[in-house]
Amino acid sequence: MTWQPEADPWGFEAEPVETWADVITAQAPDLAIMVAFFALALFSFHRKSVRLKYVTLIAAVLLLGVRSSFLLSIVNVFGVFHGELPVFRHNLAWYVFAGGTLLMTVLFGRFYCGRVCAYGALTQLLDAVLPATWRIEMPHRIERRAVHIKFGVLAAVTGYLLITRDMGIYRYVEPFWMFGGFGTPIMWTGLALLIGVTVFVRNAYCRFLCPLGATLGLLSAVTVFPIKRWSECSTCRICQKTCEWGAIDEGRIIRTECVRCDDCERLYDDHAKCPHWRILDYRASGGRKVLPLRPVT
Ligand code: SF4
Ligand code: SF4
Repeated sequence: MTWQPEADPWGFEAEPVETWADVITAQAPDLAIMVAFFALALFSFHRKSVRLKYVTLIAAVLLLGVRSSFLLSIVNVFGVFHGELPVFRHNLAWYVFAGGTLLMTVLFGRFYCGRVCAYGALTQLLDAVLPATWRIEMPHRIERRAVHIKFGVLAAVTGYLLITRDMGIYRYVEPFWMFGGFGTPIMWTGLALLIGVTVFVRNAYCRFLCPLGATLGLLSAVTVFPIKRWSECSTCRICQKTCEWGAIDEGRIIRTECVRCDDCERLYDDHAKCPHWRILDYRASGGRKVLPLRPVT
């Protein structure tokens, strides 16, 4: 009689093997929310609808912020260069989120800031409900210089991360931890101050301080589908006054600042407000038809 080894005496074979079907099923709710959110964001962007944009902003705060704490951080940018990213298999929705953001940035610019980032969405919603009379309009020349502060913050954080590898730094330069709720009393006080400033200075953090916004702004230099401009835009300047992000200067769009909010695009598609169309009408009528422009509200 020959000795037969006992099949798997330790019971290892009984261990269930996790298949891709199991992995996807377990993450299906997050994946479905992420795909649905990006579909909504893209649809609202395509339709240039103010109402749909606000629906998207509310969804960003509630679904991506409060429910899932899905926010990109400067730490993720640093992680790309150091191969320190979440495990793909267990973070599929996060990869859809990050990959979608990268793709949108290359295609359109700071699309993420305009309607995906939960913090940016919250401040835009604040801006929409607070009385306009509370706002302090910053002198243009100061605003033009202040937007560079965020690039200084980005350089400082990058230097700090390169030297120390201390990823916890993000909590002191990004308020995104608020959606996870793990701030210290000092950080909550700083956040209250930041939101207090935002009440009076529109999108203050996003325009002047955010290192992630700065990174996406730099990436926007390669935007495949930039905003179109009419030849009259360099002299007309109506949309420059309309841009709440200070992203139009001397009739030219500054890609690092533009968040693709649609406001200027809606304006120059409007035949009653944009002088471009009135000039075309005037020429087509042989110089006889001159209709008054509807004021920009
Ligand atoms: S600038 Fe920063 S906080 Fe503002 S929307 Fe962009 S990533 Fe979010
Ligand atoms: S108004 Fe135009 S230029 Fe200004 S942020 Fe919105 S899309 Fe960009």
